[in-house]
Amino acid sequence: MRAPMQAERKRSSPVKLEPIELAPRVEMKILLVEDDKALADAIAAGLRGERFSVDVARNGEDGRHLGETGLYDAAILDLGLPKLDGTSVLKSWRAAERPIPVLVLTARDGWSDKVEGFKAGADDYLVKPVRIEELVMRLRALVRRAHGHAASRISCGPLLFDSGLGVFELDGLPLKLTAFEWRVLSCLVMRKESLVPRADLMERVYDGDADADPNSMEVIIARLRKKIAPVRIEATRGLGYRLTSEGAT
Ligand code: CA
Repeated sequence: MRAPMQAERKRSSPVKLEPIELAPRVEMKILLVEDDKALADAIAAGLRGERFSVDVARNGEDGRHLGETGLYDAAILDLGLPKLDGTSVLKSWRAAERPIPVLVLTARDGWSDKVEGFKAGADDYLVKPVRIEELVMRLRALVRRAHGHAASRISCGPLLFDSGLGVFELDGLPLKLTAFEWRVLSCLVMRKESLVPRADLMERVYDGDADADPNSMEVIIARLRKKIAPVRIEATRGLGYRLTSEGAT
């Protein structure tokens, strides 16, 4: 399929907002495994204030299960946990080949915790008490690194995504997107030039809502294609989508 011309893209905006698109956009989906309820509540509230979606597990067994079955951009893991300790949870995720970036929470002076955590496959650690601003910064850095992007600006042809600010530009001009379009495109650009499974996209875009209409994804993709041309979204029937700048000038 050929990309539409520049003029066509400009004509397609401004975008009409529909009720379904008023949902708050989610920057990242985080799994938090922490048994201290007050701390878990404070972290979850702080992250949600930064547009992160947070699932909380209050013991190691639930944490292990969620990390192995859910789709998360990153996990925050306490080491001292009931039912299953954090190091075992982490080893279990790694044994199951879950590539999820993990930030370990350690007590002050918990040096042996840190060493154990890194040996088990942790990507970073943060010493309690946790400052939300620092946690957010570390999480963003972790996710960027996990996707192989050292800088916070990711480009795909003339399309640019500033993951720090959460904004897109095309040919240097701000790209106006609805909440759902933003979720889809941010997911695709983080994994640009590779196939993003359709199930992953559905999960991320609809936040696990089982009633979500699969056809609505096609609608979002179709609208995005018009907005981001000449960058293309290739569909592999039934499998997923790939954002590519191949053929774009
Ligand atoms: Ca604990």
